Amino acid sequence: MSFILHGIGVTGGIAIGRAQLVSHATLEVAHYAIRPEQVPAEIARLTQAIHAVQKELEGLHGAMTSGDAPAEFGAFLDVHWMILTDPTISETPKRMIAELHCNAEWALTQQMAVLVEQFDTIEDPYLRERKADVVQVVERVLKVLLGKPGALRASSAEEQTILVAHDLSPADVIQFKTHHFAAFLTDLGGVTSHTAIVARSLNVPAVVATHNARALIRENELLIVDGAKNVVIVNPDRSVLAEYRLKQGEFEIERKKLKRLKTTRPTTLDGLEIELFANIELPDDLTQALENGATGVGLFRSEFLFLNRQGLPSEDEQFEAYRQVAAGMDGRPVTVRTFDLGADKHKEGLDGLSRVAPNPALGLRAIRFCLAEPKLFITQLRAILRASQYGNINILVPMLVSAAEIDQTLVMIARAKDSLREQGVPFDAGIKVGGMIEIPAAVLGIGTFIRRLDFLSIGTNDLIQYTLAVDRADEAVSHLYDPLHPAVLRLIAMAIDTANKANVPIAVCGEMAGDLRLTRMLLGMGLRHFSMHPAHLLEVKQRVLGSDAAALRPMVNRMRRSDDPERVAELLDRLND
Ligand code: PEP
Ligand code: MG
Repeated sequence: MSFILHGIGVTGGIAIGRAQLVSHATLEVAHYAIRPEQVPAEIARLTQAIHAVQKELEGLHGAMTSGDAPAEFGAFLDVHWMILTDPTISETPKRMIAELHCNAEWALTQQMAVLVEQFDTIEDPYLRERKADVVQVVERVLKVLLGKPGALRASSAEEQTILVAHDLSPADVIQFKTHHFAAFLTDLGGVTSHTAIVARSLNVPAVVATHNARALIRENELLIVDGAKNVVIVNPDRSVLAEYRLKQGEFEIERKKLKRLKTTRPTTLDGLEIELFANIELPDDLTQALENGATGVGLFRSEFLFLNRQGLPSEDEQFEAYRQVAAGMDGRPVTVRTFDLGADKHKEGLDGLSRVAPNPALGLRAIRFCLAEPKLFITQLRAILRASQYGNINILVPMLVSAAEIDQTLVMIARAKDSLREQGVPFDAGIKVGGMIEIPAAVLGIGTFIRRLDFLSIGTNDLIQYTLAVDRADEAVSHLYDPLHPAVLRLIAMAIDTANKANVPIAVCGEMAGDLRLTRMLLGMGLRHFSMHPAHLLEVKQRVLGSDAAALRPMVNRMRRSDDPERVAELLDRLND
């Protein structure tokens, strides 16, 4: 049966492929009673599943020794092997099956819950972190018991694969960078959630907030994902499929045409030079940024170096990542944002973040966390400063709200510089330090920022979240998340005006910078510096080339004075005509 699901498209484009369900096996376990005579067979089923996973781990180990996988991967497989063969996982559930006459999946998850609880009471953060390994091992065994393959199937030349998940964390999505998937859908998520942002960097169509795609779509069903129209068509009929294949072809042609603008300078019709920079999450993203003509990196979300790994990246490892990006940009600016962990970017095992915060978006996130953990912060600052020798690096600090925080941050940077000087390690002594404008209080008190910092960058994703009190990652309130809310427009315009008057460079690096509908509005507000996901750079450049910034100003002024959302929408349409 053919049907349509609606969601929020986080990246445009069209994908056609077969569904691959991403399961969180532990969430799907049923509990049922078995008859006493079924006990031996149920125990045998569990034994076989454990053996199958042992074989899977051996296979991975073998593949690793012949390939060039990092050494930690081997250690990680060893830990999983040990957990799997420990009697608490391999024997206790069998006893439960015999005594309680329950199914194998349920016995295993019950035992997992007991172990996880025990891990939570361990003081040593490294050992406490092993809890995640226990869950992963149990998930592997459950997938075998439930008849689901453990590994994801990437797209091949013959068949495109579309991932369908209830929810994906930013850490999950970044792992997909090494596989190829044609598209993905999630039940949850907001348009500027970090999951959506990372999805954009995969450069594939994606639709989030579909509510129940994961429950309604079955494995291998044919899907069309239309990111621009916010829809997913399940089991399309032949005529719809043919129409979409045609559209997909046209979209590709348009994309190729845009490539011709790669080396064109983004100048408006009235001669203003505009800067179009790229946002990146990992050094590898630089390739895509350069392919799309980025003339700088306006936001390197360094916290992604901390995710999907055991422990923390050392100073040397961080230095190498920053050096690689600085050298790759060959003297063009690279703005490294100090790590913004917390809220939806959760790092297991970090003190302060490992507790469940009552309200993570308002909690110990970003610079607040860095100032609470000075050792971690200084390590990162030293790494950035050391890398500054190899290119043109700036430091950008997220979530600042007060003068005291800015001053403390500057003291930390001075300390990191002193420690390098003492050791005779060279760095760029004149490195510029900027602050993100992400909280309404930062706009209203922007003078404090202007007096203390070298440049500013408006993080509209958070600015909208905090102005409208709408969690950017919560699909239940995503209809309230509105970049065109009059209050948001006024705050952005006020920040740009004040910074321009004071001659302090200001950029926008939130998702609004890459939203083609808003390019002219931001130009009309006086913005000259945009930083966005590389996939949007060329289309935004095309829009800049066809815009007269001075002529836009009067209409944009009317937009910012209006309290009427309909009037704002009408003026926006006129700007884009
Ligand atoms: C923002 O908040 O707009 C921003 C660029 O930072 P992040 O999306 O990483 O929070
Ligand atoms: Mg932010």
